[in-house]
Parts: sequence; structure tokens; C-alpha cells
Amino acid sequence: MGINDALTLLILRQLVGESNVLQALLEHVSGEGSSDVANRHGTTKYIVRSLRTRLYERLGSPSLAEELVIYSVPIILKVVEPVASKNVCKLCGRTGLYLESHILNSHRDLVNHYLSIVKSELKKMIEARAVNR
Ligand SMILES: [Zn+2]
Repeated sequence: MGINDALTLLILRQLVGESNVLQALLEHVSGEGSSDVANRHGTTKYIVRSLRTRLYERLGSPSLAEELVIYSVPIILKVVEPVASKNVCKLCGRTGLYLESHILNSHRDLVNHYLSIVKSELKKMIEARAVNR
């Protein structure tokens, strides 16, 4: 539980090539209805809401989850390179429906690598805000 777990969920989405879901989630927590953002980004409101719920559960707070999405999703979309598409893992050729758990279990070093990059970018952003205040 906690910020690492929440960020890992978001990073895995990008690794499996579902940046559209992250984009939809970002616009949803910024105030738009889940149906509208889902339609616009070619996903479903159920997928967007379930990701939002899983983040709430991991962080224990809706407002913290929303803040984390607003700050971290733009970073993740920029720095994390997808390694899977259409249910195929490009790192090892495995196919299947549960690539997020496959990547977490079999390619955890890569996930941790991106986790540390995203956290350091977040830290820079927070420090920059503190300086400009
Ligand atoms: Zn793989």
C-alpha cells in the first residue's frame, strides 16, 4: 500500500501500451465525466473508474489519488516507453491477457527503474514549486 504501489499501477498501464486509459483518467480527475473521457480516448468508463478505485484503495484517500494522477501521469506519459501492445510482451514474446501482472512479475527491474525515474521527476517538481512560492 502507498505511493509506490499507486505509481506502479499507473506505470504498468503505460508499459502495456494503454496510454489512452491514463490520458482518460487524467482528464476525469481534472473534472470531466468518466463517460466523456472514455469515449474520447477509446476506452470504457468502467476501466477508467476501476483504475481510479484501485488508486483510492492503495492511497486511502481520494484527494491524494487525484493529486498523484494530476502530477504523475504527465511524467509517466513522457518518460515510460511501452513494452507491450495488442497483448504481446515485446521483451520476451509472451502473449496473454494479463500482461500487467506478467510485466510486474517477470520484468520487475524495468518497473522499478521507471518507478525511481518518475519519483525523482515528482520530487524535482515539488522542489521547484517550493522555490517559486
Ligand atoms: Zn515479457
